[in-house]
Amino acid sequence: MPAVIDWKACDGCGASPEPPCVRVCPGDVVVKDFARGRSRLREPGECWDCYACVKVCPRNAIQVALPYALARRNGYLHLVEHSDRGVVWEIRWPDGTVQRVRRPAHVETFEEPERVAPDVYSGDGI
Ligand code: SF4
Ligand code: SF4
Repeated sequence: MPAVIDWKACDGCGASPEPPCVRVCPGDVVVKDFARGRSRLREPGECWDCYACVKVCPRNAIQVALPYALARRNGYLHLVEHSDRGVVWEIRWPDGTVQRVRRPAHVETFEEPERVAPDVYSGDGI
């Protein structure tokens, strides 16, 4: 199910011409609506459900609609916390029940790979 931007919570990231949700979307699905000062999904059907925009929004303004088979209508997955301690998701079920789930974070750091000089051949025909 596609991401859903809560326009009450989204402030368009102020004057930013390219808010984090727009920058991170791999399918260029999120666009900033400058007339309204908010972001929106250009075409919800093209959303890949990758949740990247959900995790980068500084105002937790983006949620994901749960599949109909799971929650019928009006069930949402909402990000509460995203830190090196993990991700806390809040599930809002259609009957008003709220459930929180913490998932551990997998943080990996990569060192800059050693730069190797290109092979130098001696000119012996090899
Ligand atoms: S990152 Fe969040 S607050 Fe900023 S424009 Fe996108 S949805 Fe709105
Ligand atoms: S969930 Fe992924 S594909 Fe869908 S709008 Fe957000 S960043 Fe784009």
